[in-house]
Amino acid sequence: MILRSLNRKIAVTLFGLMGLLSVFYIVAAVQSTQLYQQEIQQKLNLTLADHIAEDIPLLSDGTANQEALKELFHTLMIVNPSIELYLVDTTGSILAFNAPPGKVLLSEIDLEHVLDFLDGGKALPIKGTDPKSRGTLKAFSAAPVYENGQLAGYLYIVLGGENYDTVVEMIRDSYILRLLFWIGIAAFVLSLAAGLVSFNWLTRRIRQMSAGVAAFNESQFEAAIDLQRWHRKSNGDEIDAMGTTIEKMSQVIVEQFRQLRQSDITRRELIANISHDLRTPLTSMQGYLETLQIKKNDLSTDDQNKYIELAIKHSKRLGSLISDLFELAMLENPDSVANIEQFSLAELVQDVTKKFELKTSQKKLELSCILPQDAPFVHGDIAMIERVLENLIENAIKFSNEGGTIRISVTAGESSLEVRVADTGLGIATDDIPKLFQRFYRVDKSRSDRIESNGLGLAIAHRILQLHDSTISVESMPGKGSCFSFDLPTHS
Ligand code: ADP
Repeated sequence: MILRSLNRKIAVTLFGLMGLLSVFYIVAAVQSTQLYQQEIQQKLNLTLADHIAEDIPLLSDGTANQEALKELFHTLMIVNPSIELYLVDTTGSILAFNAPPGKVLLSEIDLEHVLDFLDGGKALPIKGTDPKSRGTLKAFSAAPVYENGQLAGYLYIVLGGENYDTVVEMIRDSYILRLLFWIGIAAFVLSLAAGLVSFNWLTRRIRQMSAGVAAFNESQFEAAIDLQRWHRKSNGDEIDAMGTTIEKMSQVIVEQFRQLRQSDITRRELIANISHDLRTPLTSMQGYLETLQIKKNDLSTDDQNKYIELAIKHSKRLGSLISDLFELAMLENPDSVANIEQFSLAELVQDVTKKFELKTSQKKLELSCILPQDAPFVHGDIAMIERVLENLIENAIKFSNEGGTIRISVTAGESSLEVRVADTGLGIATDDIPKLFQRFYRVDKSRSDRIESNGLGLAIAHRILQLHDSTISVESMPGKGSCFSFDLPTHS
């Protein structure tokens, strides 16, 4: 429970690591001091045994020269009572020593260390047997003892004082080590405090991020995370980068949630619109057919034919609405792509215009086409662009009064061709223009009901041009007319 917060975990880990480091530091300091002390001692007394062995005849006839030794031990006792002197034979057996009897526990020493010392090849300190305690090794000085030119034994001098059993004992006894110990403790406390402060500072941003994410969750993904202070820092570290990424991610999530909610509303509206738009012609059709069925015998042949025609007209409207809806659904599928190829836009415009000649002449409209000479080919999906042209010309015809003019023109730009479909019809109010390309949007319901409009043609045209990375523009003035235009690239 205590370790739940990241900061506490780091603090405990840091405490453990610093503690370990301090123990390691103290032990290493004590050990190296001890070794250094022994090395110095051994270096200082390197030739001590040599000098004594050279000057004093320690052996006579293979046995210890008691008289000479007694005098030597006495002198040493005065000069340096901490050194212990042993005279050993060539096998390492102790022949004489200067310690009080009973204190010396071993009767022989290991000559291997002595030989290493005399050889001089090994790094100091070389430690050898301490006859006063089993298993302990101490720094020493040694020299061979000759009698009549023959090696008769060794003088073995154990150097200096006490050997400490525990580190604590040693620290207690040495000022330097005590100082080192307190320096170690101070370093431990200081670095622990510094570590805790800096980790607290470093994890503060993580804590802020965590609080930001929790608040974001609580807001039901409606308000994006704002970490205020450390965003917009171009030279930030990984945590800064993570903060910026989290902020961006939250913005995307908020936007996607908003779109999801919006698309849910749109979907409901769409279903309501579709049901309404499908029901209207269906109800009319049913009405005419039922009237025919019920009043068949009371109706004149002309009326019967009229009712049948009206039912057919409504069924056609229903069919066109369903196919428009289907087409739009296909185009709005994210996987739908335009099948881009090169074609002559001028020719296509001419062909499509021709199809509407009969309709325009029936409505007494003047239809004209202005096409450039030798215009380059455009890149696009020919069937889709044909559909756009049909929708625009159809609208121009639908929303024009008799005697009006429809002008279709193609003009060459730098790297594109522009198509304009202009009419002198009813025009569109400025407020309505931005909504024209929404599905089922009709400027004036009553006008559109009269004129027969699904409100899908411009949505289809808009989506098709979107698939061509192009847009459709409108200029219009109520009562004066409208002009719809779009561009297609001449280079891929
Ligand atoms: P529809 O498929 O019924 O023609 P559109 O999506 O093409 O529907 O058009 C939507 C609405 O935009 C129409 O109902 C009409 O009010 C308006 N509109 C489109 N083209 C013109 C135009 N050339 N002149 C006037 N109004 C237009």
